[in-house]
Amino acid sequence: MLQQVNGHSCGSDAQSPASLREDLQEFLGGEAPLHQLDDLTKVNPVTLETVLRCLQARYMADLFYTNAGCTLVALNPFKPIPQLYTPELMRDYHAALQPQKLKPHIFTVGEQTYRNVKSLIEPVNQSIVVSGESGAGKTWTSRCLMKFYAVVATSPTSGENYKIAERIEQRILNSNPVMEAFGNACTLRNNNSSRFGKFIQLQLNRAQQMTGAAVQTYLLEKTRVACQASSERNFHIFYQICKGASEEERLQWHLPEGATFSWLPNPERTLEEDCFEVTREAMLHLGIDTPSQNNIFKVLAGLLHLGNIWFADSEDEAQPCQLMDDAKCSVRTSASLLQLPVDLLLETLRIRTIRAGKQQQQVFRKPCSRAECDTRRDCLAKLVYARLFDWLVSVINSSICADPNSWTAFIGLLDVYGFESFPDNSLEQLCINYANEKLQQHFVAHYLRAQQEEYAVEGLEWSFVNYQDNQTCLNLIEGSPVSICSLINEECRLNRPSSAAQLQTRIESALAGSPCLGHSKLSREPSFIVVHFAGPVQYHTAGLVEKNKDPVPLELTELLQQSQDPLLIALFPTNPKEKTQEEPSIQGRAPVLTVVSKFKASLEQLLQVLHSTTPHYIRCIKPNSQSQPQTFIQEEVLSQLEACGLVETIHISAAGFPIRVSHQNFVERYALLRRLHPRTSSGLHSPYPTKGPAEQPPHTEEAMLQPLLQDILHTLPTLTQTADTS
Ligand code: ATP
Ligand code: MG
Repeated sequence: MLQQVNGHSCGSDAQSPASLREDLQEFLGGEAPLHQLDDLTKVNPVTLETVLRCLQARYMADLFYTNAGCTLVALNPFKPIPQLYTPELMRDYHAALQPQKLKPHIFTVGEQTYRNVKSLIEPVNQSIVVSGESGAGKTWTSRCLMKFYAVVATSPTSGENYKIAERIEQRILNSNPVMEAFGNACTLRNNNSSRFGKFIQLQLNRAQQMTGAAVQTYLLEKTRVACQASSERNFHIFYQICKGASEEERLQWHLPEGATFSWLPNPERTLEEDCFEVTREAMLHLGIDTPSQNNIFKVLAGLLHLGNIWFADSEDEAQPCQLMDDAKCSVRTSASLLQLPVDLLLETLRIRTIRAGKQQQQVFRKPCSRAECDTRRDCLAKLVYARLFDWLVSVINSSICADPNSWTAFIGLLDVYGFESFPDNSLEQLCINYANEKLQQHFVAHYLRAQQEEYAVEGLEWSFVNYQDNQTCLNLIEGSPVSICSLINEECRLNRPSSAAQLQTRIESALAGSPCLGHSKLSREPSFIVVHFAGPVQYHTAGLVEKNKDPVPLELTELLQQSQDPLLIALFPTNPKEKTQEEPSIQGRAPVLTVVSKFKASLEQLLQVLHSTTPHYIRCIKPNSQSQPQTFIQEEVLSQLEACGLVETIHISAAGFPIRVSHQNFVERYALLRRLHPRTSSGLHSPYPTKGPAEQPPHTEEAMLQPLLQDILHTLPTLTQTADTS
């Protein structure tokens, strides 16, 4: 059989690197160097090692994109390669008769989606799922694709229409610096790490022009406003303001040169992303005028001063905590910038209101401990920042979203956080890894289905490929009636005191039957292990329920409703109908909307959208964790290949028919075989042999051809290079 001759063995027999090289060179006729393999399904055999070596050879030869069956692998070059992203190159891919015959590139994927939308009578929506670990290049890739569509989907007509088209494309591109300034931060893994997930729908009209776009965001890491890991930073926008404000603005926002803020760690690091002017310019293009911008920056400065409010322990529990000496000025400045009554701000931070009784008419006031004061201060900042971010997204959407009648199809770009596993994993990682499980399930199911449909159309016999089904893991996380999510949610609903150890016991006893649930005997802290498709992850249960509740004391919202600041008035309207988003309230009787339940709902919505599209996949890989060019650390790449299940993906591609030669091409090449087999009377109806010797009738034409085909495959070294992959 073709695929066996080609050796797309699904086994994982390890070979020595030297013999691998020999094999590969033999496979390529001893001539073609490894880096010339531009599709990993052609690697022989497909193992982690061979795939790794091929990618490494390509990386060192400055070839950063490689096909892996239905997926495009994108290695991060960590150096500017302007010639790889020029508008001319974009147009070349756009104009090519068969873009897939050009070098692998994200533009091939871009063009493929663009053609898919166009080529059908009824437009079909497309999506590109860009995945990979932090710093792998997802945001870069999405941005480049947006630029690609801005070039190829522009109306060539001049005059008024052209201006409109240009303006909308420019606006869509301008949404990137704004969202990145407010939603990205410098982390240990990436100087420009996206701290939210993003799905952008690029809307196209019948004439294939981009008429608008719509952005959906997921799970902003709002805790970063008030808490940054050592060596990490807050969101870029805070540094931009502090570094880029004019003298006059510094006075207005109380940001004197050299001022220090607890929530502004590592300000000495200068990043490319610190450019305030770029953000302001982009905001202007999106319709956020200078006074509105200044209002936003003033509020953000108010948050920075809020972070400098520190309390001292109170000696008398009945008395509120005292302010630390240097915090007194910060309270006044913060209150003035947020246009809040300073007394009310202080009182809200230091005194808790407890409502009791049937109608909650009894109100008790209790001074908070120092730790509680800190939590309330942080909660206030998170509340403002999260609302501001959502508000910005809605402003961006209203600026770029097209009239529903003006577009007929869309291309969706998904840039979500990749699979994460740290020494300490909590709710954030659980949500992120849950999203990745869902996307992996979608990928495998969709890809297999698509492949089988193609074989059915071709009339080929083929047996179903076994692949790693992650449904068991998904059942463990989200299934009904009991799952990790349901148990954590139940703890929030019951609102009972529950220790980390109790939660661990509940999860372990209720879900003991799941093969994807594990337990670490070595762990000193209460935890559980989930065996994800990309590897096992240990989650600590401490703080999980509280994080899931994400409680916002009612007094904090009420405080912000007292503000005289126009932006805060818009973000915290007193009329509940105008409320933009409902936060779970500690004392509220309404059903608790937990972080997990909100995330699950948005994920389900996203998957519904993805299901309604033809998906394409780009897996970004980070060749080293130091962000260095020309550096390929095998162990690091290896773990990413494992985590994204790339080899499995290639196996799935390879388990199908790896070489797809058109009928015409096959006949032209192998017609001579008919002369060797005079008994073969009929024409060659199918260029493909059937799968599995046991299923094959012994004397079919294909059966007789197989030994000869094997000979040909061994003696025609250039076959795979010339094989028509269409
Ligand atoms: P995160 O999950 O943290 O948001 P990410 O996958 O979105 O990470 P990016 O921010 O896109 O990662 O990329 C990290 C950095 O790598 C970029 O800031 C850029 O410097 C570099 N980079 C990524 N792709 C390319 C490329 N194709 N060419 C040149 N540099 C690149
Ligand atoms: Mg990113």
